[in-house]
Amino acid sequence: MNLCTITNHIHPEDVNPNIILPYAESSGTTAVLDAVKVNLAMQAIIPRMVKLEGIYSYDILFRELWTIGAPFILVEHDIIPWPGALAQLWTCPEAWCGFTYSIYGEFRSYLGCTKFEPARLGDCPLPEGTLIAFEGMDRIIEKTLLLRAREDWKSPAKYKHHLHTPPVAHLNIHHSRMRHFGELNPYFWEAETR
Ligand SMILES: [Zn+2]
Repeated sequence: MNLCTITNHIHPEDVNPNIILPYAESSGTTAVLDAVKVNLAMQAIIPRMVKLEGIYSYDILFRELWTIGAPFILVEHDIIPWPGALAQLWTCPEAWCGFTYSIYGEFRSYLGCTKFEPARLGDCPLPEGTLIAFEGMDRIIEKTLLLRAREDWKSPAKYKHHLHTPPVAHLNIHHSRMRHFGELNPYFWEAETR
């Protein structure tokens, strides 16, 4: 068996993806955000860093990106995409794509590492005139787009969330399985509060 396998993947420098990295200044996240930035830098990816202040600023950012209309990829402040993952999203022909990542012991895809192509998906999937707090945005966006899939019988596939694997890493202690079950992992707890 050949243990030294050379694989080729599309390099981000060749596809120039539009990466948006929203982050908030809250205690305990500096090391995580640094890790995310280093990971992207090592892949020659320069994201647009957007500082979020307040519970509605993610909503405002999302609407702004949708209004611009160009395809974009959200990489949240605690997501570590593996080399080639973002290029794979960017070059995928689907309009709404996301990598899965671990949340409470399951692999799911929310907004953490997700591509949207607004021009192909219609109006912004957030409700007009009502700002949504960051923790509720993913469910509303998903619900709205899936509803469009049911209503658009000609091309329902474009409104479906295209899942990409293998999962990307998620450095979020609050979404770890041990935290979920109330059993704090001492190592992570120490790292978080250092
Ligand atoms: Zn895709």
